[in-house]
Amino acid sequence: MAIPLPAVTWRLRQTRLPRLRGRCAACAAASTFDPTGRFRVNANGKTIDVWLLLRCQGCGQARKVTVVERSPLRSIDPALLRRYHDNDPGLVAEVLLAAPLHQRNRLTVDWEGAWVLDADPIPGWPGRPVTVRVELVAAIPVRPLRLVADGLGISRAAAERLRADGRIRSSTRLDTRTSSGFSFTLDDPRYGRTGRWLSCFRRLQVRWDRDAGRWFAFVLLACAVVCFNRL
Ligand SMILES: [Zn+2]
Repeated sequence: MAIPLPAVTWRLRQTRLPRLRGRCAACAAASTFDPTGRFRVNANGKTIDVWLLLRCQGCGQARKVTVVERSPLRSIDPALLRRYHDNDPGLVAEVLLAAPLHQRNRLTVDWEGAWVLDADPIPGWPGRPVTVRVELVAAIPVRPLRLVADGLGISRAAAERLRADGRIRSSTRLDTRTSSGFSFTLDDPRYGRTGRWLSCFRRLQVRWDRDAGRWFAFVLLACAVVCFNRL
């Protein structure tokens, strides 16, 4: 009967609004824009325009990003109009992430520095395999392998080596951005050198065990098989 692996949970949560990246007309270059948290509403007779106000990090100039363009005033729900006037923070966050806004204004979302991963040290690791569940409290697109590296406090290159050696395993692709939670199993990295030595033998490299004693028994068996084949 399979012994369940010890499991821990990490949580990724949002710490601030993301920034937007695009071309700044004043800088005449690619730039990053901070959200100011404000809208500008211009109701002119029967039509209305609404912009989201951003600030360029390069030159400090404000940039108006079109949210509603010359729409009939009557087409806007009065409750929504009030939220624009009140600079409703929830609406600012919603509009900032709206795909039509990015397409219309040629912007992309920059999540860098806008989240934090709450990852306590894993009890008993390294020493025995463990399953880590990563919950995304906010739907932030990130590469899972980056979170693995951040959570373990290792470089991304080191995390990539662990994955390549099969010592980090997951049913989720770890190198493609995802906005939903995932889990992965982590082996003890101290057996890495032996694992790499054995990795030239395909049948031997796909062997993981839940305790070091059993693992070592298989290493001895593998060594015997390798030596027998070489003789
Ligand atoms: Zn600028």
